[in-house]
Amino acid sequence: MTTVLMADDGPGRVLGLITAGTARTRTAIAQVTGLARSTVGQRLDTLFDAQLIRESPESLPSRGRPSRVLELNPRAGVIISVDVGEDRTRMAILDLNMAIIGDRVEKLKLGDGPEVLLDRITALVRELIVQQGLEQTAVAGFGLGLPAPVDYEAGRVMGWSVMSGWENYDIRRHLRRSWPVPVLIDNDVNLLTLAEHRRFWPSARHLFFVKAGTGVGSGMVIDGAVNRGAQGAAGDIGHAHVAGFGDPQCRCGNVGCLESLVGGWALARDLGEGHDARDIAERLRRGDSAAVAALRNAGRIMGESVAYATSLLNPDVIVLGGLLGSTGDDLMAGIRQVVYQRSLPLATRRLQIVPTRFKSRAGIAGAGHLVRDHVLAPATLDARLTVGKTPFGDQ
Ligand SMILES: [Zn+2]
Repeated sequence: MTTVLMADDGPGRVLGLITAGTARTRTAIAQVTGLARSTVGQRLDTLFDAQLIRESPESLPSRGRPSRVLELNPRAGVIISVDVGEDRTRMAILDLNMAIIGDRVEKLKLGDGPEVLLDRITALVRELIVQQGLEQTAVAGFGLGLPAPVDYEAGRVMGWSVMSGWENYDIRRHLRRSWPVPVLIDNDVNLLTLAEHRRFWPSARHLFFVKAGTGVGSGMVIDGAVNRGAQGAAGDIGHAHVAGFGDPQCRCGNVGCLESLVGGWALARDLGEGHDARDIAERLRRGDSAAVAALRNAGRIMGESVAYATSLLNPDVIVLGGLLGSTGDDLMAGIRQVVYQRSLPLATRRLQIVPTRFKSRAGIAGAGHLVRDHVLAPATLDARLTVGKTPFGDQ
């Protein structure tokens, strides 16, 4: 007899087929995997015992008796998702289908430093769990998005950012004192990119996301996975130099960065009013013609950077998000114009350039997907499945 390789055809892979909708009945799972029906039965027993799957009310017709359809039990565990912003932090509890069970927003000051802020977040999340009556539900994982470059493996903020004072602090170790579960930490733009891909473009192989807000950033999905580069700095187009538009001082210390020309703070500087993307968005809502002109111009400048990325990555889709990216079409028009002008036809033939479809809570969805992808990955799950026990919770 050959040895059974768990990661290849273990319960984790069977669960993956069910959650992806590839195979949702015993018969279909046997067909797709080539496993004997008895082996499929064992794998499913393991998943039922761990309360990871349940029978759906739906059934599919088949020869003989109808097949029961299997589905993920979304309450097998909950995911804590926290999206830290420059002035507001959103905290949410999600089920495994990414539905928000409860959430709250608080004004937290990044300047208070990691120890104070992470303890505050922990206390607020605990309150949320109690409010929702989830004290007895296993926590599958904790996802945290930060407005800074993050070394994903190390779970630390690296280099210059608005999170001054957080550099190199071991965030994961701090959070794991209270939450002994997988703690995954990433840059906020990477999480927006992941959310966009998983929610709206799951079949696109390559997606490029641009966030236009007070700051400017981008993220990329390559071959279905977020690409973070060697140190987590991949995609930081906001602080790459753009030639030909003057060299204003940037807040990172360099001059002439894309953000120093088109970031919300830079537009406010040029317009001589307000100080961030919110102020610009407010002027746009009033139909202020100077703000509209500034945003159109910003679109053309941003188009230079996006065109370069298009030539480099040949994405299937470019998604524009952030407060300024989702306020009207003025920014988008400029970007489209320059990208189509500058890129080779082969790179743009099937390219779609679209605004984000998220109205809000994209960061929460991204942190949730990050955790879900990790804890439901077949290898992770198989390693944690012990007969009759939930794979989630303390570890
Ligand atoms: Zn800069």
